[in-house]
Amino acid sequence: MKTQRKHKILNGGVVVAVWYNEKDMTPLFDSHCHLHDPRLDGVRDDVVARAVRAGIVGCRTCGTGPDDWDAVATLESRPDFEIRKAFGVHPWYAENLPADWLDRLRAFLANDSDAWIGEIGLDAIRTPAPTGISRTVLRSQLELAAELGRPVILHGAKAFDELLAACRPFVGKIPSFTVHAFGGSEVQLRRWLEIGAFISIGGAVTQSKRLRRLIFEIPPERLCIETDAPDMLPIGGEPAIPGTKLNQPSNLVLVARAISYPTVKN
Ligand SMILES: [Zn+2]
Repeated sequence: MKTQRKHKILNGGVVVAVWYNEKDMTPLFDSHCHLHDPRLDGVRDDVVARAVRAGIVGCRTCGTGPDDWDAVATLESRPDFEIRKAFGVHPWYAENLPADWLDRLRAFLANDSDAWIGEIGLDAIRTPAPTGISRTVLRSQLELAAELGRPVILHGAKAFDELLAACRPFVGKIPSFTVHAFGGSEVQLRRWLEIGAFISIGGAVTQSKRLRRLIFEIPPERLCIETDAPDMLPIGGEPAIPGTKLNQPSNLVLVARAISYPTVKN
């Protein structure tokens, strides 16, 4: 039996899967990408035009460290494509930060009252045990999010339990938690849902039966979808530049399709 879900955008720019109907071009919002990434320089306008043609109405572009915050800040929305922003230090870049990084982050957030804090978190794939520095950097950003009342976008590759432990003291203090590219277990999923987190599903769902089954456990109003472009080009996705593996927001349709027709057999 086929289950259809469609998506609508809430105030925070979160896409919620409810009932997706491809024929109606139900508006889709890419809840996590890096549209400002220099690998898209020169093709960014085309990438946005393709996204609009595919029914994507906007995205949230997420910074990864002080070096790319300017690029995030200078992107501008178009009437038909809304670009929302997040500034933060990704766990891969938590070492060797300039001494004033937190002040600079604060300044970027002060200039954009809609901006969230992300992408931030812990990563146990690149660094087998998340280092003390990445924990400290995460903690400082969670404290800032609580102080300023900004939602956070979380990266928790193979560290979803440790990340949850770090976030727990901030439940009720930070407006919302969005777990990007969720790939954890059903138990981990349940724990994140218990603290009210939004769960963002990316291109991995097009290849993972396990992930497609988990979709059933996510309340529609907590489900977001994302591309993580220009990374994570899904199988069958059109690259941003022919001959490359650069992903683009128009491929969000593949994610929507994969979670719109989840069956335990597919
Ligand atoms: Zn990302």
